[in-house]
Amino acid sequence: MYDVVSLGELLIDFTPVGVSDNGNTLFETNPGGAPANVLAVLSRYGHKTAFIGKVGDDQLGHFLGKVLENNHIDARGLSYANNVNTTLAFVHLDKAGDRSFHFYRSPGADMMLSEDEVDLTLLNNAKVLHFGSLSMTHEMVKKATLKAVAAANEKGILVSYDPNLRPLLWDSLERAKETIIEGMQYADIVKISEEELLFITGLTDLEKGSRELVERFHLKLLLITLGDKGCFYRLKHETGYVKAKSVNAVDTTGAGDIFLGSLLHKILEKKITLELLTPGIIEEMISFANIAAGLSTTQKGAIPAIPELDDVNKIFEDNV
Ligand code: ATP
Repeated sequence: MYDVVSLGELLIDFTPVGVSDNGNTLFETNPGGAPANVLAVLSRYGHKTAFIGKVGDDQLGHFLGKVLENNHIDARGLSYANNVNTTLAFVHLDKAGDRSFHFYRSPGADMMLSEDEVDLTLLNNAKVLHFGSLSMTHEMVKKATLKAVAAANEKGILVSYDPNLRPLLWDSLERAKETIIEGMQYADIVKISEEELLFITGLTDLEKGSRELVERFHLKLLLITLGDKGCFYRLKHETGYVKAKSVNAVDTTGAGDIFLGSLLHKILEKKITLELLTPGIIEEMISFANIAAGLSTTQKGAIPAIPELDDVNKIFEDNV
């Protein structure tokens, strides 16, 4: 029995860490993949979690399996492909410290997950299913993803969705938009960035854009994260904004995932149905998630940067 199940990409992020003596860039092998990052937060904060996805039956794939195990994430839903390699992503940092990704995925094991590899019994008694759009870029893994989210809808499990737009992974931006929108139809909670709001709705106005999404897809909670500015939210009719914690950020990798994992933790901890959320309650939860995500940006990487629950709680309690 698991509290939270997530499905999607699990891959290697090669992150630049400096230059060698002969001036060439050095990369560190880091575990990556938003759905696993979200689970790692929930697992660290005391929830039972399970992952569904696919890696290569190679050294890096087994390294990723070990990462799940070390983070107490059940990996029985992780398949190993014997004919396709583990997906790789190289992270590049520009002069302003902004990241871009270059994926080696033609194909990569994460896109080869098939419907019959999705074990729906993992969802028995689960409270949340989390997914993203990287597992919908190609037909086979899209079918696998929609099998899980449709089953979650049927069972009344809360569905959390972070599209995480990566334009280079799609054969066209039209298809990316169409598919990201298709995913919204299954979701109860959606987390996006301002860029994703603009991409999906064509709107930059948070009030108007959020209204369009919540009304069109009957979302119960929409979160628009704003980096160092914090987070805007919309329940059905109410909207609001919660300021971020001011920190000395060194690496924002995975901040959005740590934000969402922390928010889901609060929802599970409070055992509250989303329909009962009020601005007061959700703003307190967002404030907790802002603190956790903010603290994570002061450390390098995603999973290694997840702050301890006690540290987040201490700052949270001092703030309320
Ligand atoms: P990603 O997809 O790269 O994980 P994202 O775009 O979904 O990121 P952001 O909006 O960058 O997510 O960040 C998520 C949350 O992390 C913010 O809402 C905020 O709480 C926190 N955060 C991010 N960057 C900073 C920062 N520089 N200072 C303080 N908090 C930050």
